[in-house]
Amino acid sequence: MASKTSKPKAAAKAKAAAKPKPKAKPKAKAPKVRAVRVAITIDCTRCMRPIAVDAIGPEVRCRACLHGVQVGSDRWLALIKEPVAAALKGADEGRSVDFGDDFTVVTRIDVAAPACRGCGAGIDAAALADARGVHPCACGVGQAVREADGLMHFIHKDALALAGERGSELETCEPVAFRCPRCATGLRTDGTTRAIACARCAGDVDVPDALWAALHPVRPHPPLYLLIGGKR
Ligand SMILES: [Zn+2]
Ligand SMILES: [Zn+2]
Ligand SMILES: [Zn+2]
Repeated sequence: MASKTSKPKAAAKAKAAAKPKPKAKPKAKAPKVRAVRVAITIDCTRCMRPIAVDAIGPEVRCRACLHGVQVGSDRWLALIKEPVAAALKGADEGRSVDFGDDFTVVTRIDVAAPACRGCGAGIDAAALADARGVHPCACGVGQAVREADGLMHFIHKDALALAGERGSELETCEPVAFRCPRCATGLRTDGTTRAIACARCAGDVDVPDALWAALHPVRPHPPLYLLIGGKR
């Protein structure tokens, strides 16, 4: 009986030896996704208020005065390319970069599991990277997700998406009355546009700085998450 079973066993062994070792299981198609948390503050070059960066693009807009601080690709790269690479290697550091001529930027870039800004629940990084538009949460607070663009690919070649950006639209407020700074006609603003048409001046006038700033208080912004794929 022993000989009966030993033969096929030996054959199987020989077969297994002849066969090249099965390669490590083919990796799942979706690469491992890592999330780098990006929190940046830039001083507005016009009103000097700190701007919590809520989107990564050529211009960072100050909601208090609507001024667009030109950051540009070169500066973004100087600001976050190296810290993102360092964070992926385990560094966790805040830094302040002074561009001298006009503005100072404070960055905090580290690897952290994404969390819902509404309820704090953890969000799976891979699911977030796959979402386009808004990644919903049971609490009702969605997280905006945008596919990585050229700038993000410059920041990290395996960038997949950027989550947590705020839309550029301004929140509407209850209409507030003010007087046209030129002719004193009564006007109203709901806070969504800076230029208001004045019938008497036959043109647009700007909502005065102080009123605009009061309508758009400086608020902190939750961090952005740069989602980065693994090696495929
Ligand atoms: Zn400003
Ligand atoms: Zn939530
Ligand atoms: Zn007027």
